[in-house]
Amino acid sequence: MNLHEYQAKSLLSEVGIDVPPNLLLKQASAKQVATALPSSETGRWVVKAQVHSGARGKAGGVRLVASGDEVVEAADALIGTRLVTGQTGPAGLPVDAVLVEPAAKIEHEYYLAVTVDRALQRVVMIASPQGGMDIEAVAASHPEAIFRAVVNPTVGLAAYQARDLAFALGLEGPQVKAFVGLALKLYRAFVERDAALIEINPLARVEGGDLAVVDAKVSLDDNAGYRQADWWQQRDVAQEDPAERKAIDHGLNYVSLDGNIACMVNGAGLAMATMDLIQHAGGMPANFLDVGGGTSAAKVTEAFKLILENPRVEAILVNIFGGIVRCDLIAEGILEAAREVALDVPTVVRLAGTNAEQGRRMLAESGLALTAEDDLAAAAGRAVELANKSREAAR
Ligand code: GDP
Ligand code: MN
Repeated sequence: MNLHEYQAKSLLSEVGIDVPPNLLLKQASAKQVATALPSSETGRWVVKAQVHSGARGKAGGVRLVASGDEVVEAADALIGTRLVTGQTGPAGLPVDAVLVEPAAKIEHEYYLAVTVDRALQRVVMIASPQGGMDIEAVAASHPEAIFRAVVNPTVGLAAYQARDLAFALGLEGPQVKAFVGLALKLYRAFVERDAALIEINPLARVEGGDLAVVDAKVSLDDNAGYRQADWWQQRDVAQEDPAERKAIDHGLNYVSLDGNIACMVNGAGLAMATMDLIQHAGGMPANFLDVGGGTSAAKVTEAFKLILENPRVEAILVNIFGGIVRCDLIAEGILEAAREVALDVPTVVRLAGTNAEQGRRMLAESGLALTAEDDLAAAAGRAVELANKSREAAR
């Protein structure tokens, strides 16, 4: 789950990281601004759209203003709109609130983040003197400007590692100590809050030499939602993909993708292998969907409905291995779903394992236009073929 910037900054302040004073506005209220606007030494404020996306600056979602009246004006212009950024897709995300802070006098922008390096199977801290912009672009054009500290999980981030990063960034004097303190607290927040990513971009050197947290992004691990109940309850579902949100409510593991071939699989590893096979057969998966090892007919029905809500889907590939779950139960779920929603998309079903034959028989006798396949590679090929056919037919 992603947090808004204002929530991310509050999470950071809980571990003792200094963040700017702020005012959160859910409407452009002159009264609220008059009474609660944090004072600004520079006489300037920044008004920032709260959406689950970066690159807001370039999209007009971060505005520098010079008076309380202008704060209200900027808030009015942003709240109630949808912000389209380079990361959101054309529909953008709803702006239901803006965060107002005294503007920092930025002299330099650094990048600092903590995340998991899956290949190394370690938490890593990443820092760059080229902050402010998209870090992927820096990594592509200036890989030498990206510095990493790999954390030993038993020891945690060591102070010397944080110091190394500070020197790599070119920090001097008191900045080094400030950076080390910040880095250690950041690592603590990452571990204690079950984060997947905490990013400060930019971490700014402001006039006078201090370091300031200008922007913050936090993503928490969904699997630890139950341990972080206070944050989980505050998640802003208005910012989430509606299909993914529905999936969470039904206990399904669903990720929207760009392709046209939906898949429904039990088990995350099998789901990934199935997506690979779809690509290998020349198709593009429309989603990742793991209905779980011990799934039920009701869950399969919900999964089918979810898949069919995606207008891009031109074929469906069901790949179930009946280990814990029985294939006849899966077949029942498919039939139930077909009864509830018009199953007008060509569907290939591959059932293997416990009661597979019984499941296949149920599907064959149903009179539904389902294609049964025993071999997984053949099933993927068939799904791609059917998707191509239905596209041609639509033309
Ligand atoms: P993002 O575009 O969504 O990552 O939003 P940021 O909060 O990172 O803001 C984008 C850019 O706006 C930053 O990289 C800064 O250059 C600029 N910016 C944001 N806040 C301030 C501020 O307080 N003062 C100044 N001078 N620039 C700011
Ligand atoms: Mn940023």
